[in-house]
Amino acid sequence: MKAALVGADGALLHQARRTTGRERGPDAVVESILGFAADLRAHGERHFGEPAAAAGVAVPGIVDDDRGIAAYSANLGWRDVPLRDLLSKRLSGVPVALGHDVRTGGLAEGRIGAGRGADRFLFVPLGTGIAGAIGIDGRVEAGAHGFAGEIGHIVVRPGGAPCPCGQRGCLERYGSASAVSEAWAEASGDPAADAADCAKAVESGDPRALAVWQEAVDALADGLVTALTLLDPRTLIIGGGLAEAGETLFTPLRAAVERRVTFQKLPSVVPAALGDTAGCLGAGLLAWDLLATTPTSPAPEVTAR
Ligand SMILES: [Zn+2]
Repeated sequence: MKAALVGADGALLHQARRTTGRERGPDAVVESILGFAADLRAHGERHFGEPAAAAGVAVPGIVDDDRGIAAYSANLGWRDVPLRDLLSKRLSGVPVALGHDVRTGGLAEGRIGAGRGADRFLFVPLGTGIAGAIGIDGRVEAGAHGFAGEIGHIVVRPGGAPCPCGQRGCLERYGSASAVSEAWAEASGDPAADAADCAKAVESGDPRALAVWQEAVDALADGLVTALTLLDPRTLIIGGGLAEAGETLFTPLRAAVERRVTFQKLPSVVPAALGDTAGCLGAGLLAWDLLATTPTSPAPEVTAR
């Protein structure tokens, strides 16, 4: 879990990390979040003279932002946790916002990160899986049921590799950091080789690595072109582990997207700027959004993964 006290201008005033402790079960995770937030609030009171005025929390899985309920997380094992109300109660009644981890990170990238100033953006982190956040005029679209942006489960190879979601040929089976790691481990014969190793091998001109890399890039471009055909974003922000390859990814990816578009306008394709603090900063922004005025006290935030 990453947490921070966030100032009105999005400044990180204080940061902390704790283990989620998910092996102790969902109730213990909820208690860890509440305790972490309370300690952070106390820290703010000690160091800034007054406690935080609001709180934001971002969690993975299915999140009902409007009702403040963490509906489901396979990783954390919880179901229908009224996290917003629990947290508000623990923090002496301050307003609390609950958000989805990727959408909340996307909110931060869009407002104060790589998408700053873009009225329409799409944030796509390429990690263990692939998710997406659709930014529209300073907020992130959740969809009617909280599933908007799940670009990782767009089918790019019909009848292809099975995906845990139940479909076959989903983008994240080809274009995630995990998928590249798997493919490169097999192609290189080194079971410990991962996506970062593959990127290095690409840079040194290894033809096997180039083949693995291009397969991922093509799948990504197929998925991204579907998304930009639907959404027409001004900026396409690519983050997550695979984006750490820098131009080794971005140069061929921009080219592959460009080859595929016909009438669509090309968005600018840029790397994410906030790294793993995006979730923290986004939760802070959610908290500040709850405050109609602009008080001077810091707003705390907790993010659990
Ligand atoms: Zn899938």
